[in-house]
Amino acid sequence: MSQNTVQRLYLMQVGSMPEYQIPIVCYLVQMGDGKNILIDSGLPEVMPAGESDFENGQDVIEQLASIGLKPDDIDTVISTHYDIDHAGRHAAFTKAHYVVQRVHHVDAASNPRFAATRPQWDRPMERIRLLDGDTELLPGLELIETSGHVPGHQSVLVRLPKTGAMLLPIDAVPFSAGFTRDEQDDASNPNAEAIRASTMKLLDLVERERIGLVIFGHDQEQWETLKKAPEFYE
Ligand SMILES: [Zn+2]
Repeated sequence: MSQNTVQRLYLMQVGSMPEYQIPIVCYLVQMGDGKNILIDSGLPEVMPAGESDFENGQDVIEQLASIGLKPDDIDTVISTHYDIDHAGRHAAFTKAHYVVQRVHHVDAASNPRFAATRPQWDRPMERIRLLDGDTELLPGLELIETSGHVPGHQSVLVRLPKTGAMLLPIDAVPFSAGFTRDEQDDASNPNAEAIRASTMKLLDLVERERIGLVIFGHDQEQWETLKKAPEFYE
């Protein structure tokens, strides 16, 4: 297919938090011109000391191999944020450009939360594209700034030819139960207000765009019902 729009969306589980039954996931978008766009890269190959909650599964490299792709086939890595379960393998994609919100990249430079993954995301600037807010990256592929979980977190809207619009909130809304306009019992969280504002932004988007499927960032119950690679949404 020659038309340069989104053709396929693959879902890949690359790890878990076994104690909490939480999946760690990545996504791959394929365009009509053959470009491969990876969304996040999962856990590091070797977990840093103290990160005992996470467990690697079939990692992103193996998942990509299962659909016939090598790391160098990835043209772009959409980086939703630099937490260890989202940016752990970024450096494996040596031909890729990275797309991240400027606010996040700048914050990460001095935020100890992202120090463990720094060797993964701290690339030469000619390989990083910094975004300022909501951006249509390619036809059918939009990035939605959703701060709260961390400054400059971004979610992804994918418009597929058959399935229609699908929303990937990533960690803006990790669990389906949180996707509500109801007040949340999280007053002790200093980011509660920003999280709520981003949740509202995504709920408005779902209504406006009549989005049929929202894939929450870490929702095991929902994950079990979804198609995973090598199957895909189209
Ligand atoms: Zn996460």
